[in-house]
Amino acid sequence: MHTKRLQFSPGDVVFREGDPPTSAYLVESGKVEILTHQDGVPLVLSILGAGDLLGEMAVIDDAPRTATARALTEVRLIEVDRAQINERIEASDPIVRALLKGQLNRYRTALNALRSGEAPVVVSSSGEHGLDADGYDDSAVAKIRLETQLRDALTSRTLEVRFQPIYEIREQRISGYEALVRWTHPVRGAISPAEFIALAEETSLILPVGEYVLDRVAETLARLDQLGVAPLPFVAVNMSGRQLAETDMLGAVQRASQRHGVDPRNIKIEVTESLMLDFERVGELIARCEALGIKVALDDFGTGYSNLGHLHKLQFSTVKIDQGFVRQMLDAPRCHAIVSAIVQMVHALDSDIVAEGVETDAQLQALDALNCRYAQGYLIGRPQTFDEMRRNHGLD
Ligand code: C2E
Ligand code: CA
Ligand code: CA
Repeated sequence: MHTKRLQFSPGDVVFREGDPPTSAYLVESGKVEILTHQDGVPLVLSILGAGDLLGEMAVIDDAPRTATARALTEVRLIEVDRAQINERIEASDPIVRALLKGQLNRYRTALNALRSGEAPVVVSSSGEHGLDADGYDDSAVAKIRLETQLRDALTSRTLEVRFQPIYEIREQRISGYEALVRWTHPVRGAISPAEFIALAEETSLILPVGEYVLDRVAETLARLDQLGVAPLPFVAVNMSGRQLAETDMLGAVQRASQRHGVDPRNIKIEVTESLMLDFERVGELIARCEALGIKVALDDFGTGYSNLGHLHKLQFSTVKIDQGFVRQMLDAPRCHAIVSAIVQMVHALDSDIVAEGVETDAQLQALDALNCRYAQGYLIGRPQTFDEMRRNHGLD
């Protein structure tokens, strides 16, 4: 990265109102005044000194300079390249970008009002259709809106938890469920958890969402127990990266179980392979869970981050083969071979195996022939409500 230093003497103009925004500057030494004109009379807006940033505004929103910068003393400036600033802005969170642009818009409006002596009226840069020229303001605002609505769904308890059956093939019975969260948005309708969990992950919202899901899971187990379902099925809950890093998930499992009077050992935790990058935390979680008899499953195995080095060090109770493999296993012999090898490997590691995304009877038969113990997928059942779940256990 090149560093360009510039020298100015008292009275020299660094840039003039209306100039194109070539670059920003960092004041190294000396004083610079920023001025505009009000009814033709010069008006000093600020005086900047060492360490201050100068002329960055016009660079950020690529607009002509709104004021003139003039040296008051001997001044040394470091030129900051436009690309440098833009790169940082592009890499930042879209919501932070939207906030920055909003502030700039307001500042410019206030400045114009000051010049003309009129009251400032902020006009949205996004115009009538809510679309910004760059297109990103809108998505940031949409995100903030969505986030607020998700928060509302959480407080009004309209977020739903469904339970997808997990079938023990040889025993021909449903021995567990996976809890999958559902959000019916007031306008957009059903929103996939794949979308809103990612959104919740970007903020701390994932933490109360996780607590909520656990509470509903424990509540459901308690209701099944009261109805006399025995043995009680296990319920697996999904855990995201932030939940692993920032919450005491195990503590939350224990609290929810206690609140509803159920054995925490009926709850399983599913972690996805991408979390294996945080190998030490996962190891710690498994160790703590094991001491309490709570099982931890490795989700979506075979996608993305498969790392056998981790698998040999981490004792998962269950490994779930990703649905992508199951979907193709009957059409692609190589895929069938992979599923077969995964099943054998997992058994050799003394873990249980669940095949995900089982949609046809032929797939179920093929998995049975490979000695795969559990199957989950639309063939067995979609994610279900409590009433549908009751029927699985002979209760009407
Ligand atoms: P996942 O843990 O891999 O969950 C399995 C997904 O596959 C679910 O999608 C399920 O509805 C879908 N599925 C199940 N069987 C079949 C099948 O036979 N065919 C097909 N095509 N799909 C099937 P869903 O419910 O949309 O969830 C998507 C992801 O969202 C989940 O993937 C999980 O990573 C995340 N998620 C869901 N609920 C929670 C939650 O409470 N907490 C966290 N942290 N993540 C969650
Ligand atoms: Ca899962
Ligand atoms: Ca999965």
